[in-house]
Amino acid sequence: MDTLIFATNNQNKVDEIRLVLGNRFNIITLKESGIDIDIPEPHDTLEANASEKSTVIHSLTHKSCFSEDTGLEVEALNGEPGVKSARYAGEARSFDDNIEKLLQNLKPNNNRKARFKTVISLILNGKEFLFEGVCPGIITTGKKGSNGFGYDPVFIPDGSSNTFAEMTMEEKSMFSHRKKALEKLVTFLGSVDINQI
Ligand code: IMP
Repeated sequence: MDTLIFATNNQNKVDEIRLVLGNRFNIITLKESGIDIDIPEPHDTLEANASEKSTVIHSLTHKSCFSEDTGLEVEALNGEPGVKSARYAGEARSFDDNIEKLLQNLKPNNNRKARFKTVISLILNGKEFLFEGVCPGIITTGKKGSNGFGYDPVFIPDGSSNTFAEMTMEEKSMFSHRKKALEKLVTFLGSVDINQI
């Protein structure tokens, strides 16, 4: 089984990604690779942040790896918080504070349309490939559910009446932005000879 390092310290993301890739690839986390760093996300786009993360890990390990960056884009807020989703309410990166700020900012709006967008950067034999997944939905007026992480308690994907936080990981995966980006990555990996790249 081929091994891929996943450049994240977020265990929820690791669990979601192992659910999709686990029987095809040996997914190794940063911790399991003995790497203890908080990788910066300094850029204005998800693509540039994802690239930065995989490039940093590749330069440390010289092994095939991937990273992802995700943002929540809210239509009535002109796409905010977007690339700043993790630090929307400040550097403390608190899920509760971020949700509180989002609900406050959206209060005067009837338009609750939003979408999650994930960008994956894969570095395979030193070359980079990007994959994108989008999940459209709406922002609720209050929190519902206790599963998942981040903005899950206030996001209902199109096609469901439950928030992501009311779903099991398997149910979330039927709609999720991350799953859609991963499916593109899996199709790509299935279509190439890894050693010929
Ligand atoms: P990052 O990709 O870890 O930088 O995530 C940006 C922000 O979006 C963080 O606050 C995450 O908690 C949140 N986030 C990322 N993916 C998801 C998700 O699948 N559901 C809910 N929130 C998410």
